[in-house]
Amino acid sequence: MSQGLITAIYIIAAILFISSLNGLSSQETAKRGNVFGIIGMFMAVVATVASSQVSGLGYITIAMIVGALIGVRLALKVEMTSMPELIAILHSFVGLAATFIGFNSYLDHGVLIGTAQSIHNVEVFLGIFIGAVTFTGSLVAFGKLSGRVKSTALSLPGKNWINLSAMAISAFLLVSFVGGDLGLTALIIMAVIASLFGIHLVASIGGADMPVVVSMLNSYSGWAAAATGFMLSNDLLIITGALVGSSGAILSYIMCKAMNRSFVSVILGGFGNETFVQNTDVDQGTHIETSASEVAETLSMAKNIVIVPGYGMAVAQAQYPVAELTKILRSKGKNVRFGIHPVAGRLPGHMNVLLAEAKVPYDIVLEMDEINDDFEKTDVVLVIGANDTVNPAANEPGTPISGMPVLSVWNASKVFIFKRSMGVGYAGVQNPLFFKENSEMLLGDAKVSVTAILKNL
Ligand code: NDP
Repeated sequence: MSQGLITAIYIIAAILFISSLNGLSSQETAKRGNVFGIIGMFMAVVATVASSQVSGLGYITIAMIVGALIGVRLALKVEMTSMPELIAILHSFVGLAATFIGFNSYLDHGVLIGTAQSIHNVEVFLGIFIGAVTFTGSLVAFGKLSGRVKSTALSLPGKNWINLSAMAISAFLLVSFVGGDLGLTALIIMAVIASLFGIHLVASIGGADMPVVVSMLNSYSGWAAAATGFMLSNDLLIITGALVGSSGAILSYIMCKAMNRSFVSVILGGFGNETFVQNTDVDQGTHIETSASEVAETLSMAKNIVIVPGYGMAVAQAQYPVAELTKILRSKGKNVRFGIHPVAGRLPGHMNVLLAEAKVPYDIVLEMDEINDDFEKTDVVLVIGANDTVNPAANEPGTPISGMPVLSVWNASKVFIFKRSMGVGYAGVQNPLFFKENSEMLLGDAKVSVTAILKNL
């Protein structure tokens, strides 16, 4: 394929990627956005592989077939609840690829002299640094999201000094490497430091702040790809990496704002975070249990109903009976709306995706800020598998969720909480909502409970 044609395809692919991001910004256009992204990526891969700079097509084809088969199998098999950890592990691959390409590009870069050599060295160094941080950080995120690693924040003594020292030593190594004093040794030492830094950075961030980490690692993987683009002089990779990097950074910023967290503190691995006292041992009083028939009876008398879904709805796959319940209640003339917390579930927009899948109308699905003042005028709230996002302990100091805005469901006349036990949520904080006078627990799997209510209505 001629260079001119490749450039033209790259430009079209870049436009498709931008249109894809634009499409993904709203639920109505998200599917179209995905299609643009798929077409753009297909064109980009074909043009790259067909370039005269690429040799060993046989190996590449075999690798692509094996990769595609693994990818298709994973995508078909993965449960919606496991998507965040899948995303985290995929970010780690981007980081690992950037690290390998960095070393490769250093060892085999053709003839470079003077300034070009120095610029190339900076690209290589930064590519490996960002790649290694992304690789190990994403592996820790994978462990935390899949429950293999404890989600509580690691708090090593002098953790900020550890991070600062890692940055300072890496900066020194960068200068030596660009100056040509240490060569490959500097790269290897830096890769080890960056890998440990990535582990420490993500391990230091607590459960409730994990959503920001996921989007931050998404951003890092974009910058790692952009760095790879510079090393390989591939303009499309630079554009794609910059799009992923900047959109991930914007998402991290938005999530930090929604959670009332300092962006700088989270990206520096919980810099300056206080030590938390868990409230799990505190006696919260007694709770009241209820039954599906009692919930159905209360619902039949209510006028204003708000449903607050959380991670448990995803685990139970309760979105379909919830959508059916919504339809029936609306057909009886009741005002049913949904209140969605920005970090409900395990990935940004998790609840919106589930509700859209079950065909709940978009216009009754409201963001936390849009609905929080309405709870006082609400007759019944159904909290379906949500915990941290409706926990009033967030309004008190000293817990990992302190300061995070939550849905003030307790202001409603009646709150029914659907979960299997009196256990804590993701951040490990006991929830005083369960023990309030106007709260009643409907214990059991959320899908089973909602289906039982449907039968009783
Ligand atoms: P939580 O994770 O706080 O709580 C979910 C609740 O669902 C649990 O208490 C659990 O209780 C219940 N549950 C689990 N399975 C079922 C089931 N089958 N039926 C009924 N209930 C069930 O959920 P939230 O959505 O309120 O909060 C999300 C948390 O995850 C926040 O801390 C957030 O920071 C964090 N997070 C969010 C990410 C994001 O991007 N959105 C990413 C990473 C973390 P029980 O076991 O008793 O049933």
